[in-house]
Amino acid sequence: MNAEIIAVGSELLTPYRIDTNSLYLTAQLNQLGIRVLHKAVVGDAPDEMSSSFRHALDRAELVVSSGGLGPTDDDRTRQTVAELLGRKLRTNDEILAGIRERFRRYGRAMPEINARQALVPDGAIVLPNPRGSAPGLWLETNGRIVVLLPGPPNELEGMFEEQVQPRLAKLGQREHLYTRDLRISGLPESEVEQRVRPLYSVYPDIDTTILAAPGGIQLHPRIWSEDARIAEKLLDEIVQRMALALGEHLYSTQGESLEEVVGRVLTENRATIAVAESCTGGMLAERLTNISGSSVYFLGGVVCYSNNLKAAFVDVPPEIIETKGAVSSEVALALADGIRRRTGATVGVGITGIAGPGGGTPEKPVGTVHIGIADERGPRARGFHFLGDRDRIRLQATQTALDMVRRYFLFPSHGRA
Ligand code: AMP
Ligand code: MG
Repeated sequence: MNAEIIAVGSELLTPYRIDTNSLYLTAQLNQLGIRVLHKAVVGDAPDEMSSSFRHALDRAELVVSSGGLGPTDDDRTRQTVAELLGRKLRTNDEILAGIRERFRRYGRAMPEINARQALVPDGAIVLPNPRGSAPGLWLETNGRIVVLLPGPPNELEGMFEEQVQPRLAKLGQREHLYTRDLRISGLPESEVEQRVRPLYSVYPDIDTTILAAPGGIQLHPRIWSEDARIAEKLLDEIVQRMALALGEHLYSTQGESLEEVVGRVLTENRATIAVAESCTGGMLAERLTNISGSSVYFLGGVVCYSNNLKAAFVDVPPEIIETKGAVSSEVALALADGIRRRTGATVGVGITGIAGPGGGTPEKPVGTVHIGIADERGPRARGFHFLGDRDRIRLQATQTALDMVRRYFLFPSHGRA
C-alpha cells in the first residue's frame, strides 16, 4: 500500500514552524508496511488544500492529513475534504455532547464555534480524541482511505496509536520495510559513496540512502520484502561488505551516537576519561554526560577559556602559550596531559581552537583546532582545519575528539606520533 501525507497549516509555510508530524507518521506507516511516496505541506486556504487532497487521491491509496480540525475559522480540513468527496456534513450529537462536557470539566461553557468540531461527513468513522476537542475522521472513497488527524503532535500520536494503527494493521500488508543504520566518521560523503557504490549493483533490491550530518555520514540500506528472513540476510550481507569497505571509519552498525560508542569502549576497557576544553566550551563534557551511566567512565572536566585558567586549572606552562600561541598542538598536548594528571583519569583530552567567526589569522584561520589525547604512553595531538560556522566547527571538534578516543582504544597502533 502507498500513502501520501498532507500537513495542513499556514504556519508550516513560514520560516518559524516545521512539519514534524509527517516524520512520525512516516515511521509508523513504514512499520505497518505502508510506503510513503509523497508528502505535501499546504496552508489553510480551501482551494490550495482541495488541490492537495485531489492530487493525493489521484496517486495514493491512503491519504493521511494532520491539522486544520480546530474550531477557528482557519481550520477547514473537515469542510474541504467533505466537499471534495461530495459528502454532506451533519452534526453528531454524541460528539457535541462530549465537547460540551469537556468544557464543563474545565469549568467553562463551550464557545459556539466549537460546535463545528462535531460535524461529521456522511459515511465517516469518528476517531475519538481524549487529549483534545477535535475528533479525527476516517473516510473510504473509491477504494481509497482518507484519515484526518488533528495537528497538535500529542493528540495526533495518541489518536494514531489507539485508532488508526489497529485499523491499518488489519489490512495486513504483505511487504515490510527492513533497514540498518551505519554511522561513519572521518570520511567525506563522496568518499563514503565511492567506497560502497559497487555494492549497489550487487544488491539491486536494497535501496541505500546516504545522509550527511555535521561530523559524520550515515548510510541506511533499506529493503521492502515479503520475507523477513531473506531481507535480514541480505542486509547482514551488505552491512558486512560495507564494513569492509569503510574499515575503521565505521563506528556503528546500529545507529549509535559516537558518545555511546565511546562510552561502551571506555567501559569495556575499564578506562576513565577527563577533558580540558577551550573552544568547545564544555560541549565535549556535555556530549559525554548525555549518555546515562557515563559516571562509570567520565570523571569530569574544565572549561579553560583564558590563558590564565589554562595554567591555573591544568598547569599549561605559560611560556608554551607565549611561544606557540593558545591554539597550538603544544597547548592541546599540555591540556590533555594536565587534566589527566589532575584527575587521575586513564585518558585526558584537550581541545583548543578558533571557532570564529572572528579571531582568525592567515597562519591560524577560523576552523583551526588542535586536539590532544594523553594516556600512560604519553600525550599526542593532531591539528585540523574544520569548515563552516561556529556551531559546526565546535561540533566537528567534539566529534573528532570522540573519534580519536574511540580509535585510540580500538586501533592502539594507529596514528601514534
Ligand atoms: P491545528 O490542528 O491545525 O489547529 O494545529 C494545532 C497546532 O498543532 C499548531 O499550532 C501546531 O503547533 C501544531 N501542528 C500542526 N501541524 C503540525 C505539523 N505538521 N507538525 C508539527 N506540529 C504541527
Ligand atoms: Mg492549523
